[in-house]
Amino acid sequence: MRKQIAAANWKMNLTLQQGEKLLDDIIVLPHQLNEYQQAIFAVPFPYLIMAQHKIEGKKNVFIAAQNCYNKKSGAYTGETSVEMLLSIGVHHVVLGHSERREYFNESNQLLAEKVNICLENNVTPIFCCGEALSVREANAQNEFVAKQLQESLFHLSAEQIQKVVIAYEPIWAIGTGKTATSAQAQEIHQFIRSQFANKYGATIADNISILYGGSVKANNAKELFSQTDVDGGLVGGASLNAEEFNTIINSLK
Ligand code: PEP
Repeated sequence: MRKQIAAANWKMNLTLQQGEKLLDDIIVLPHQLNEYQQAIFAVPFPYLIMAQHKIEGKKNVFIAAQNCYNKKSGAYTGETSVEMLLSIGVHHVVLGHSERREYFNESNQLLAEKVNICLENNVTPIFCCGEALSVREANAQNEFVAKQLQESLFHLSAEQIQKVVIAYEPIWAIGTGKTATSAQAQEIHQFIRSQFANKYGATIADNISILYGGSVKANNAKELFSQTDVDGGLVGGASLNAEEFNTIINSLK
C-alpha cells in the first residue's frame, strides 16, 4: 500500500533557532502516524544535522534535503553530494522544485541524473512536477507534466520507480494562496498515475505516492487529501507554522 505523506518545504526560511523551535513545537504534539503515514521535513542544508537529531527515535518522521548535486564528489564548490547527505543520516531529497527549475535552470535531463544518483544510493527522491499558469490556461497541463515524467523518470526500472515520491505542484498555486480545487488535483493526479500505469503497469502505479503541493493549508488539507489519488502534500508556507502543519499532518488519510 502506498504511503500518505505530509512533507514540509521550509525553502530558504528561518534561522537555526527558529527552526529548532518549530520542530520542537511540531514533534512534541501527539501524532499518531501509522505505518502508511509519514511526515517529512525538507530543511535548509545548515539545519539538516540539527533536524536529524530532533527526529531521532520518532517513527515515520524523516528529514529531507531540498536539493543535491548530480555528481558523486569532486571540485564542485558549493554543491552537496548524496554521499554527504547519507553520512548524516538523510535519506530523502526534494528534486526539481519549480523554484530550482526556474531560478537555477534545472532541466528534465539534469533531474534525471539527480534521480539516478539518489536511487543508486538508496535515497528517496521527492520529484516535483507541475505546470505554469499559461500552460494550464492553454489546457496543456497533462502533456506538460507527462513530458517532465518521461524525460526525468521513465528510464527507471520498475523496481526503482516505486522508490520515487511524486509531488505535483502547479506553479500557479505555489505561494500564491491559490489552491487547485480538490477536483482539479484529483483529475491530474489520476492522469499522472495513469502515465505510470501505462509505462509500468497498474500494480506498480498504485504503489507510487503522489503528493499535491500549492497553497496547502490547515483548512484545505483534509479535502485535498481525501481524493483517491492525492496521497498527502508538499507544503511550503503553512509548514512554517507548527499549529498549521500539525493540522496538515493530522489530515492524512
Ligand atoms: C512548495 O514550496 O512546494 C509549496 C507548495 O509552497 P506553498 O505551500 O507555500 O504554496
